Amino acid sequence: MNSMEAIETRYRTHSNGQLRRSDVGKEVKLAGWCHSYRDHGGLVFIDLRDRDGLTQLVFDADLCGQQTHDEARKIRSEWVISATGKVTERGEGLTNPKLPTGEIEVRVTSMEVLSVSPTPPFTPHETDPVNEERRLQYRYIDLRRPEMQQTLRTRYRTTKIMRDYLGDLGFWEIETPFLTKSTPEGARDFIVPSRLVPGSFYALPQSPQLFKQLLMVAGCDKYMQIVRCFRDEDPRADRQAEFTQLDVEMSFIDRENIITVMEGLLRRIWKEILNVEIPAIPHMPYDVAMSKYGSDRPDLRYGLELHDITDIAHTTDFAVFKNAKLVKCIVVPGGSKITRAQTDSWAEWSKGYGGKGVAVTKVTASGFDTGVAKFVTPVHAKIVERTGAKEGDLIAFVADQPKVVHKVLGELRLKLARDMQLKPSTEFAWVWVTDFPLFEYDEEEKRFVSTHHPFTAPLDEDLSKLESRDRAAVESIKSKAYDIVVNGSEVGGGSIRIHRMDVQQNVFALLGIDESAQKLKFGFLLDALQYGAPPHGGIALGLDRLIMILRGIGNIRDVIAFPKTQSGADLMCGSPSPIDERQLKETHIRIVAPAAKSVSQPPTPDVHDVVHKHAGGAGKP
Ligand code: ASP
Repeated sequence: MNSMEAIETRYRTHSNGQLRRSDVGKEVKLAGWCHSYRDHGGLVFIDLRDRDGLTQLVFDADLCGQQTHDEARKIRSEWVISATGKVTERGEGLTNPKLPTGEIEVRVTSMEVLSVSPTPPFTPHETDPVNEERRLQYRYIDLRRPEMQQTLRTRYRTTKIMRDYLGDLGFWEIETPFLTKSTPEGARDFIVPSRLVPGSFYALPQSPQLFKQLLMVAGCDKYMQIVRCFRDEDPRADRQAEFTQLDVEMSFIDRENIITVMEGLLRRIWKEILNVEIPAIPHMPYDVAMSKYGSDRPDLRYGLELHDITDIAHTTDFAVFKNAKLVKCIVVPGGSKITRAQTDSWAEWSKGYGGKGVAVTKVTASGFDTGVAKFVTPVHAKIVERTGAKEGDLIAFVADQPKVVHKVLGELRLKLARDMQLKPSTEFAWVWVTDFPLFEYDEEEKRFVSTHHPFTAPLDEDLSKLESRDRAAVESIKSKAYDIVVNGSEVGGGSIRIHRMDVQQNVFALLGIDESAQKLKFGFLLDALQYGAPPHGGIALGLDRLIMILRGIGNIRDVIAFPKTQSGADLMCGSPSPIDERQLKETHIRIVAPAAKSVSQPPTPDVHDVVHKHAGGAGKP
């Protein structure tokens, strides 16, 4: 815990984490909350808390007088007081090595009660887990807990490092509007009705993407902003509808320049916050990530790589293998100890990822045993040679369309790492994933969608394919996008952008946005690209997710001061809530009874649904 020098005021001279043995003898004044109290009759002890720590106050009637002593006996949890006294060394055997202030105490001479409190719904030092709804309802008490204060401190320090580091490199922090037009990151917009233009709406930005690109056209050269983004999606453990990102854009650069700047920043953060060095971060093309780990955000802390055995599987008599487009497997070291009941349960589990099951077999000294052993025994030598499987291992196979094989085995890797509590090879496994496909084909909707967003540039060598209407050719176009991944979590993503109007128009056309829709939605961007746009690119890092990783916290609500619940509610202020008639009238809104919902037509997709496949989310820039 780093010490805070209190600003001297009439309430205090020092913070509660500040005093040490070297301060013994000083006359000090402290203020804070009553963390705990012990009444030993003659002596009253109070641990006084502020965000910096705890200091033990001692009330001795001989020193503070009977009246103050009597008042001290009435102090209860979370009362706020200010006390003057003398820093004294604690007696032999009475020091508390767990507290930085544990060698001293303050013997009080006078005290003022600044605020009283009824018994709080919970106390900041409660050891039993407090119900989360209660914590959110009384967030101001919850935030007093030392671990929450530590998280807020880490969050502040991280954003300060971001500003200092980028500021030194010549980045300007420039604000972009919150009341804006829909931006196409692929999620649903939050909308705000306009009072002045009846029937018109602003959208809250899903990210400042187009503004930061326009700032490059405007000659601002290097932009950064720590900015709130809004995506109207269901919250998840690592996603909030309202989240914060570090948004960055630079002119006259290539992918490597952005990667260098961002790596330098991440190194600085990890060093200053955790005292951990980040080694050189490997780059992995998207195709390799998918084929080896079944994911475009591979968790490289665990091996369990996917092996392609399609050619071998096709020579077996097992129909499921013989007829499958792709057959892959993972070898689970020591997996023979996984029970039959567990491996049987994977069939049902795999359905959640579009699979039809997971075939398994165990490797023994003499061959394969159980599961699909009978079918794969004839190709035993080949499988062992391809996969390196050893006695005591388990092999898990999936045979299906490539998308399904990768999804199911990719998820199985993670499940096994969790279920078997595998030891990670390193604390933080970083990787840049590069060379994403520019488009993905949406089978349901029968159209292309952007893998990142529609302003992402294709690789130069693929530019000519933008004119093609052949599905395979379009699917083979690679983009200049990159994601930064740590421990299987995508903490940032960005790209080199399209800075030529004709290229941007071609991309829109491939996404099925016709000329009039282009004008309507993106006219301002296309206009700007005509008037001298420099080559540019950028990235956004999800701040909430970074803090979760830095603090080892699994729940995004625990890294945000005032988060929303799963249903998007703020339990403390009670939002969302109805507005009054006058506000409705002013904003030209009439509430239709909710029942009308079931009879209304499903909305027709607009440009937003057309351009981006994956909805974003907290930290998913
Ligand atoms: N604007 C993107 C996002 O928030 C990030 C980027 O491309 O810089 O998803």
